[in-house]
Amino acid sequence: MTSRYAYFGDTLLIALSAQCDDRKLQVTDIETDEINTTLAVGVSSCLLGNRVRFDGGHKHDRYLTEVLGKVFTFVPVCPEIETGMGVPRETIDLHGTVDTPRLVGNETGVDHTSRMNRYVARRVQQRDLANICGFILKSKSPTCGLQKVRLYGSSGRVSYRARGLFAMALSRRYPSLPMIEERPLHDVDTRDNFITRVFAYARLHQLWRGRISFARLVEFHERERYLLMSHSSKRCQILDKLLLTADKRRPAIARDQYATMFMQALKRVHSS
Ligand code: SF4
Repeated sequence: MTSRYAYFGDTLLIALSAQCDDRKLQVTDIETDEINTTLAVGVSSCLLGNRVRFDGGHKHDRYLTEVLGKVFTFVPVCPEIETGMGVPRETIDLHGTVDTPRLVGNETGVDHTSRMNRYVARRVQQRDLANICGFILKSKSPTCGLQKVRLYGSSGRVSYRARGLFAMALSRRYPSLPMIEERPLHDVDTRDNFITRVFAYARLHQLWRGRISFARLVEFHERERYLLMSHSSKRCQILDKLLLTADKRRPAIARDQYATMFMQALKRVHSS
């Protein structure tokens, strides 16, 4: 028997026992306040209503604090405040190239890139972020934005293909970590997928704890089989093959390969 998480509409329904022996999925609704979980999820601090934006404002997302906050313990991060940029502060934008963008003040032209990159490289390694199972990032921000952030090219041409410096550092350090901006969270299928991946990542963390053995990895895979197949039967077969052909004397290598492919398989969003 294994725990599962499911999410439907605007009500959090926590499931679930999947009785693998008779292959029936039994779903049990549990009130959110009955959930005893300490899953930690990082979040751009302004989304929680903290007044950390350049103008002293916030971008409070009530869905986060009023619904998801009942399930997750949030770890707020504001890299601009944490690097001492202060409130109020001038607005900043990304300039240069998608791979090596520079973070530049719009009024003074001060280049914050080195300081920010040094800071976020250290910050993502700190213990509170090493234990998170997902991250919700503020869209469009040159620091936190995960995708389609405005970038001024050398000719002054504007494109929307960049990532914020913090989001880049986070995804480099934790390539399998479930990450999402706050806007897609308002699409029910995308949100369902994100939350499913957060819980799956947490179960992977459990696997990483303690002594790794090939048998434990196979056991994990069998428990997750139906979830995997519901996202991609092809990827489930690839993982079957990985475990069949892996070097059983080196379980840590198989585990790392498995973890990357497992989280990629769950990225496929179902439409309702
Ligand atoms: S987007 Fe990120 S850096 Fe900007 S105010 Fe929000 S938390 Fe701070």
